[in-house]
Amino acid sequence: AKTTGRNRWMFYTPEMAEQIVQRREMEESLREGIKKEQFSLVYQPRYGHNSSRIIAVEALIRWHHPELGLIMPDQFISLAEETGLIIPLSDWVLKTACRDAQQTLHGLSVSVNISAVEFRSWQVVDRIREALQESQLDPARLEIEVTENATLWNPENSLEIMLALKKLGVKLLMDDFGTGYSSLSYLRNFPFDGIKLDKSFIDGMPGSDSANTIVENIIGLGKAFSLSITAEGVETEEQLQKLMMMECDETQGYLISRPLSLTALKEQIAALDSA
Ligand code: C2E
Ligand code: CA
Ligand code: CA
Ligand code: CA
Repeated sequence: AKTTGRNRWMFYTPEMAEQIVQRREMEESLREGIKKEQFSLVYQPRYGHNSSRIIAVEALIRWHHPELGLIMPDQFISLAEETGLIIPLSDWVLKTACRDAQQTLHGLSVSVNISAVEFRSWQVVDRIREALQESQLDPARLEIEVTENATLWNPENSLEIMLALKKLGVKLLMDDFGTGYSSLSYLRNFPFDGIKLDKSFIDGMPGSDSANTIVENIIGLGKAFSLSITAEGVETEEQLQKLMMMECDETQGYLISRPLSLTALKEQIAALDSA
């Protein structure tokens, strides 16, 4: 038990204690996992509408835990963010994705997810510059995906950081657009090149009139602001058709391809090239 004030006691229940222990253990094994490089990247193709070709891929991290097996990012990214381990983890992702793009994925752009918390420090610019230098990747082929939270912590600082990234020559994509509170006109103050429309909007298409209208309006506004629009989580042929009618620039989702290992992605590209 522990005191939280005069005569006020807060008791840790066994469940709470267990959670704390689990968290500590998880943090320890994450630290160990980083040291031993227990991670891999899978790449999900992003298709251009007019070309029906893979024009870019998104790098997504996987953790191969020696005892627990495959762990998905939703189960460890927030812990990594809270403990600061996101920095070394993200450095590994950046370096691996840039190297794969340079050595294997000729001509394709690669996008990497960078946590909003990483945008609280200027370090992020140096870290991305270093990954580019080490891999010799053309900066124009690297895209950074961030959520709008990256713009909220200290808008002036994050704007400066984003401008410095743009100066490196990389592109900036606003991820999960529509799930936060800010509007496109707010985001227009930041140097984004494109937006990724969150899956939750695509899920309602084409059955829900309001989902259709919202998506159509976002695509229209995005075009007016010269932003490329990617629809995320496209799962059905009907959604794809509707998005093509709305002249959405890019699609990504299980309908077209699940995330693939680098080897499987290479095979997929070769098959498309010879088709
Ligand atoms: P996200 O950036 O929004 O990535 C899209 C997620 O949706 C991926 O899940 C992808 O596999 C999944 N997805 C793609 N198409 C479909 C579809 O048609 N249907 C459904 N149901 N899902 C689809 P994943 O790989 O589990 O990643 C989850 C989240 O973890 C990502 O969401 C991203 O926020 C985060 N994440 C992944 N890799 C990294 C990383 O290297 N660094 C950081 N900071 N975050 C990462
Ligand atoms: Ca993303
Ligand atoms: Ca997303
Ligand atoms: Ca997401």
